[in-house]
Amino acid sequence: MKLALKVDVDTYDGMRDGVPNFSALFRELGIKASFYIPFGPDASGRAIFRVFKKKGFLKKMLRTNPVKLYGFKTMLRGTLLPSPMIGASFPDIAKRVEAEGHELGIHGYHHVEWQDHLLEMSGTDIRRHYELAVSSFEKTVGKKSKAFAAPAWLCTGESLAIQDEFGFAYASNSRGRHPFYPSVEGKKFKTLEVPSTLPTLDEVLAWDGVRPETASSRITDAMKNSGLTTHVHSIHTEVEGTALFADFSAWVRSLKAEGVQFVTVKEIADAARGNAPVCEVALKNLPGRAGGVSCQI
Ligand SMILES: [Zn+2]
Repeated sequence: MKLALKVDVDTYDGMRDGVPNFSALFRELGIKASFYIPFGPDASGRAIFRVFKKKGFLKKMLRTNPVKLYGFKTMLRGTLLPSPMIGASFPDIAKRVEAEGHELGIHGYHHVEWQDHLLEMSGTDIRRHYELAVSSFEKTVGKKSKAFAAPAWLCTGESLAIQDEFGFAYASNSRGRHPFYPSVEGKKFKTLEVPSTLPTLDEVLAWDGVRPETASSRITDAMKNSGLTTHVHSIHTEVEGTALFADFSAWVRSLKAEGVQFVTVKEIADAARGNAPVCEVALKNLPGRAGGVSCQI
């Protein structure tokens, strides 16, 4: 079984605390992972207002205890506190992760804006997100990003067309089963897509009957029962990287002991390039997640 850990950084605190936690664990276990960083502001406090807009979110926020998961300051960022830049505030952390042999890519520019408004954004606005993230990555890290992972697993026909202009080696914007070239309503795009294949820990925590102690084993079950031999699993610096770091560390150690081979998302992309099929992408609801995400059909 091959497993790529796809680390999504969502917040300033996650970049500062979660990324070093993950890299220390991965160093100890000899694991290489893929880190995706937003290069715009942390306005995650605005997510609070989703409670009033999106069905199911309040229930999830209450179940997963957002103050514990995200911290009080993070919940106010972009509301009462100013929004600090995420990637550009920590060039040393970004460069160290890369120097340790991990993969580094972009997790959008303004995470909250993309998550809440991608479907209404103009092409000019979407292109601006890509341009700002690409140029800030280059300034911060000193090289071009080869990979783009959309915030909240959201993409549209328009965002995929714009993404193709940037020449990424691959993108990881969706949820699905295996690498593919995406199409939307029959229109095909050229950037290889490597989807996340497993439910996330915060989704599993929202399922009926799942307690924090049993959540990781449900992900292992999903992996073993999938019929697939290669998986991409999205983890978050604010969840597995800090609040639930001890549980996550124990889970990764157990997988390593069972012989799971850890790879990067780039390695999966490189193996699939050229011979991946074309698949449609469309919005679907997933158990435990509020709002639709882009899924391989
Ligand atoms: Zn994210």
